[in-house]
Amino acid sequence: MSSALYSWGRYPHVQQTGHACHWRSQLAARLDDVVLEHGTTLPFGNGRSYGDSCLAVSNHVVQMRSLDRFIKADWENGVLLAESGVTLGEILSIAIPQGWFLPVTPGTQFVTLGGAIANDVHGKNHHLRGTFGNHVLRFGLLRHNQEALVCSLGENPALFAATIGGLGLTGIIDWAEIRLLPIRSSQIDSTVVRFGGLSEFFALSAELDHQHEYSVAWIDCLAKGNNTGRGVFIVGDHAQYGQQEVDQRLKLRVPLTPPLSLINNLSLRFFNEIYWRVHPAKRTRQRSSYEPFFYPLDRILHWNLIYGRKGFQQYQCVIPDAVAELAIRELLGAISASGQGSFLAVLKRCGDIASPGLLSFPLPGTSLALDFPQKANLGRALFSRLDAIVREAGGRLYPAKDAHMTGSDFRQAYPAWEQLEALRDPVLNSLFWKRVIV
Ligand SMILES: Cc1cc2nc3c(=O)[nH]c(=O)nc-3n(C[C@H](O)[C@H](O)[C@H](O)COP(=O)(O)OP(=O)(O)OC[C@H]3O[C@@H](n4cnc5c(N)ncnc54)[C@H](O)[C@@H]3O)c2cc1C
Repeated sequence: MSSALYSWGRYPHVQQTGHACHWRSQLAARLDDVVLEHGTTLPFGNGRSYGDSCLAVSNHVVQMRSLDRFIKADWENGVLLAESGVTLGEILSIAIPQGWFLPVTPGTQFVTLGGAIANDVHGKNHHLRGTFGNHVLRFGLLRHNQEALVCSLGENPALFAATIGGLGLTGIIDWAEIRLLPIRSSQIDSTVVRFGGLSEFFALSAELDHQHEYSVAWIDCLAKGNNTGRGVFIVGDHAQYGQQEVDQRLKLRVPLTPPLSLINNLSLRFFNEIYWRVHPAKRTRQRSSYEPFFYPLDRILHWNLIYGRKGFQQYQCVIPDAVAELAIRELLGAISASGQGSFLAVLKRCGDIASPGLLSFPLPGTSLALDFPQKANLGRALFSRLDAIVREAGGRLYPAKDAHMTGSDFRQAYPAWEQLEALRDPVLNSLFWKRVIV
């Protein structure tokens, strides 16, 4: 059985045929079949990567989502073993009632365990907990024509390191064991304050990050002059008391793909202005459930479709601490001068906890992420200017979000790529890897 799949940004708009596998015992045979018929393939989680890193060169992927069973849970110690197609949301639905939470979560709960490992995802607590890979104890890895392997810091350590952030290229993860985070409540106590400019963001981050589990800022990337870098700063912690309840609020759905993007300069400016103004000028404490805090965009299913048939690209970079403020000011200047930009750009200080993964994205510095409706000259006009600033600052782009970076920028920013290439399973290849390496 197969189904049509795309990446989240729907750019490049390359349809993938999914070959699903329902039982771990059949995965090796499934991989064999797809390789026999199509030459190469790639594991596919839930398609929440924006660009081309989840797209196979052959356009035929092994779809992992139906391997979605929990295998073992140790609720005393918060250790969970599950098949790799389980989503982070499904993990929360069984972990929260037992007093546990994900140790690290990205901005959507619709990603699979395998996808979270393969991109070594990070979240609002990177400054305290590092990446998802820092909490992976071991996993099963299936490589073509090989015995199934178990990888951990102690067993097959080279493949363990290469697979965390390994973009699905070293083999198929069929199960994984992770350590969870203890919580007393599923609610989040947060403090919110708006800020008027970039310097204020860095001052708030220096003051508050180390006092809180979670920290993130939304910024108005279209603001100019004195307002450049204005935004809303949010820190939060798991509440110390309250219910341990799984959020089950109703989700809205974008019913169809409009022919043209609903995002334009007018709607962007209007939304960014309103968003900034509705947030308090003074530090304000509030309590909310975990979903609106971590996953505000998950409320609208398939929100990616509002960008129309051409889709969109996300630009996410991280800039080292020493030059972060300067370079991010320059990036925002270039973006606002171009008049293009996103509803909510995200600014986040990353910490210095090293990931076990070879090609992990975060580094000690500040990450900026923004969405742009796809246009013919986006890469040439704006992204090449932004890339030059990132390169000059010694920063790098995030492969999970990328559809444009040059091979030389990638190889310069991720020197361990050669180790990954040496361990790549030759039957696995992505459009991303082909673009930057092969
Ligand atoms: C709204 C939104 C917010 C996001 N916020 C963040 C964020 O805050 N931080 C962050 O880091 N990321 C973020 N992301 C990106 C997302 O977390 C990653 O792209 C994630 O890896 C997607 O997981 P997936 O299961 O959808 O995998 P896919 O996108 O389908 O695949 C991702 C990669 O994993 C590989 N893969 C998938 N399953 C397996 C497997 N079983 N074995 C081996 N390899 C596999 C694929 O080959 C591919 O290379 C966000 C995405 C969205 C849409």
